[in-house]
Amino acid sequence: MNKHESLILTNATITDGFSFLIENGAVEIENDRITQIGKCNDLQNPDVETIDLQGRLALPGLLNPHHHLYSALATGLAPIGPIENFTQILGNLWWHLDQKLDEESIYYSAVHGLLQSVKYGVTTIFDHHASMNGVSGSLAIIEKAFRKVGLKGLLCHEISDRMGESAVQAQVDENMEFWAAHRQDSHVQGLLGLHANFTLSENTLVSIQKQKPAELPIHIHCGEDCADYQYCIDHGYAGPVDRLNEFGLLSGESFLAHCIHLSEKDYELIREIQPVVISNPESNANNNVGVMDIAKIEKYILGTDGMTGNILGTMRSHFLQRNGKIDQPLDILFRYPAEIVQRFFPDAGALEIGRRADLAITDYIPVTDINLDNLFYHLIFGVQGQPMYMTIADGKILYQGGEFKNFYEYETLNQIKHVADKLHRKYYE
Ligand SMILES: [Zn+2]
Repeated sequence: MNKHESLILTNATITDGFSFLIENGAVEIENDRITQIGKCNDLQNPDVETIDLQGRLALPGLLNPHHHLYSALATGLAPIGPIENFTQILGNLWWHLDQKLDEESIYYSAVHGLLQSVKYGVTTIFDHHASMNGVSGSLAIIEKAFRKVGLKGLLCHEISDRMGESAVQAQVDENMEFWAAHRQDSHVQGLLGLHANFTLSENTLVSIQKQKPAELPIHIHCGEDCADYQYCIDHGYAGPVDRLNEFGLLSGESFLAHCIHLSEKDYELIREIQPVVISNPESNANNNVGVMDIAKIEKYILGTDGMTGNILGTMRSHFLQRNGKIDQPLDILFRYPAEIVQRFFPDAGALEIGRRADLAITDYIPVTDINLDNLFYHLIFGVQGQPMYMTIADGKILYQGGEFKNFYEYETLNQIKHVADKLHRKYYE
């Protein structure tokens, strides 16, 4: 880890993504904090280590609000059966994989997924974990990976009846115990992870309703596939959001991923209660489950759902999928994520004096006019979802010029490969 106490990043175009953009700008960082933001000429100090960013575009550290780090070593795995529809994709790939995870593969999946996120400027991740044959203690293993890599996060374990109702309590306990032990933590906190309505029986939701403290938010897949919607209709509800609301699980603090197959009542509830809605356009395309109706859900943010660690690339896919018609894209990328990160980490989440220094320095040097009105197009056509030049979290340089500063990359990569190989062999056994 670099030992500097003070650092000046100079000669950059600096923006928080929605309220200011400074050309020929500089940022001063002391320990983990941003202490000054201004013009290069005003922020010079020969006694402080200074890095010349040569005109690169500097952004706030990014948020990935829906990730599955446990899937980070899945690349190249073949499904064990047909994947004609969404439930087959779960059963014949993801649910089979997560049951093969052990302590070692949970840890190295997380490390690999986190490093792949750092490369793309992500400094905070909300992870939705599953390791059904190693539930207890799994979140502490992932926490270790977050602390090792140096990112902030919210962790949860998926609760689901898919292993039988008798297995549910251990999943509930893992979430509740982790959350209770990390409520004031400055880096890693907990949520209550639920898989989806269609794998949660009425009995299970009654039990969760009884146990869940009001201030513990849920993180759930909601209306991802028509099977989820149909299950709720068949059980007498107006839709997936309505069912969560009927069990008292829905609040403005809830995280609902996907929100594709919903009823009019569901949309009304979202407008009224305002949970955080996370669209995952690349995953939705990959699973062929449809697209979220952005005319009906006005406020949302973007996640990757385990597909990649790349949020700007995900926005580029979203932009192209919607034929370039997205309202308030800078709010989706920067303003809303800043508000959400600050709910949990009040001194982080934005590129602002006094806050923790989380920065994503792109490898893009704008040569045409740049301002807040055209910034989004510089991101789509200039940055293009490419890896960052530098990623800084809590004032520490984690990645610079293609190298992870805190890792001997070759050594770490060999260990990850070794663990991935063992996991793949177990998967096919
Ligand atoms: Zn997901």
